Amino acid sequence: MATVKSKNIRVRIAPSPTGYLHIGTARTALFNLLFAKHNNGKFVLRIEDTDLERSDKKFEKDIIESLKWLGLAWDEGPYRQSDRLEIYEKYVNKLLNENLAYYCFCSKEDLETERQTMLAQGLAPKYSGRCRDLKSEEVKKRLDAGASHVIRFKTPEARVTFKDLIRGEISFDAALLGDMTIAKDPKIPLYNFAVVVDDEEMKISHVIRGEDHIANTPKQILLQKALGFKTPQYAHLPLILDPDRSKMSKRYSATSIQEYRDQGYLPQAIINFLAFLGWHPKEEREIMSLKELIKEFELNRVQKAGAVFNIEKLGWLNMQYIKSFDNSELAETLGVAATEENLKIIDLTKPRMKKLSEFKDLAGFFFNLPEYDSKKLIWKTTPISTTLENLQAVEKLLSELTEKQFSKENLESVFSEITKERGRGEVLWPLRFALSGLDASPGPFEIMEALGKKETLKRLQIAIQKLESRS
Ligand code: GLU
Repeated sequence: MATVKSKNIRVRIAPSPTGYLHIGTARTALFNLLFAKHNNGKFVLRIEDTDLERSDKKFEKDIIESLKWLGLAWDEGPYRQSDRLEIYEKYVNKLLNENLAYYCFCSKEDLETERQTMLAQGLAPKYSGRCRDLKSEEVKKRLDAGASHVIRFKTPEARVTFKDLIRGEISFDAALLGDMTIAKDPKIPLYNFAVVVDDEEMKISHVIRGEDHIANTPKQILLQKALGFKTPQYAHLPLILDPDRSKMSKRYSATSIQEYRDQGYLPQAIINFLAFLGWHPKEEREIMSLKELIKEFELNRVQKAGAVFNIEKLGWLNMQYIKSFDNSELAETLGVAATEENLKIIDLTKPRMKKLSEFKDLAGFFFNLPEYDSKKLIWKTTPISTTLENLQAVEKLLSELTEKQFSKENLESVFSEITKERGRGEVLWPLRFALSGLDASPGPFEIMEALGKKETLKRLQIAIQKLESRS
């Protein structure tokens, strides 16, 4: 890519508040931010809420909160299209006055009949232009009578070609488009029109957005030309695909950022994951912070092919970030008091935690010993009586220690003799099970250090009683 002049770089994320912040929108926001920050440019947030029926304040709130939670800080905005209706009105009127747009009074039924006729003739359907040349007195008369209408743009029959920074040259035959509706009324602009006006007014230099917007681009370029605006540079990001290579849907994984937050994914892991949905750094690396991504990001390393959403990869990344947190940081993130005991528990649980939400399941046994079947205390084919003797010997050994001696290292050396004498598995398996009540857990020495002497002995006695009542 040609070197970009930094001071003029201005990009935007323009979500419509018609749903919770989508993974795809978050990825687009991230790529815009990376591009802006890499080039010392500005990143603008614009809420595209002109679709009054589908827009909802609750979604706007979620979008703003989720972007903040991800750490995607914008430099300007949020601008809201609903606050800018007068600006669109000015430009709609400009096109009407210059005879580049016109009022159309065709009813839905008229349009449908027209469409069917064209299809029957084997033509690609488009608006016939029936209202293009209505006399101005006629238009006025109908408007005064309150006739329902839209405003259409006189789409020129031209070829529109643009250079996409990711996809190369893209060319459309605008003759196929027909006269498109740009507003329901001068004060009620539709998507393509509002975007064109805003991108100009907000001095957007690069439009970086999802591939699903490619078809809108020629329409927007024609409107820019008619309005005398500059055309920004375009970069359309590859689709995000499900593992079966269909467009991402709820069928395989959650699609809103909110759901990932609630499941216990860290924003750092999500950012790292999203960055790799369609982009890769020059050197092979997997763990990258936002700061590192900004440093490395280049639009010309964005791929054209769809990017598959691999939830296992997100889980793996999340695990790496959880491991990299220090214990008190993690306590805070988990909303757990940073007591000495909790910090030990966090330290032991951390290496196995894929999501924050797993903490409760992984660490629960430290706080409450789960119910378990005494059969589980038996290591392989060891007889019950031997297992009982081994646990009794362990109890005796531990009861002679002071609380202070309950550290992992010390316990390990204290146990060296008894495990040699009675067998490692024969001693440590029943002990670990007695302490955790679980098939999988950290090792017995770590658990004993976290539980302390009193709780350790209590759990051993429970196991001993269970075995006594069986033999
Ligand atoms: N509002 C559009 C959307 O949510 C984005 C428009 C654009 O980026 O041009 O998909």
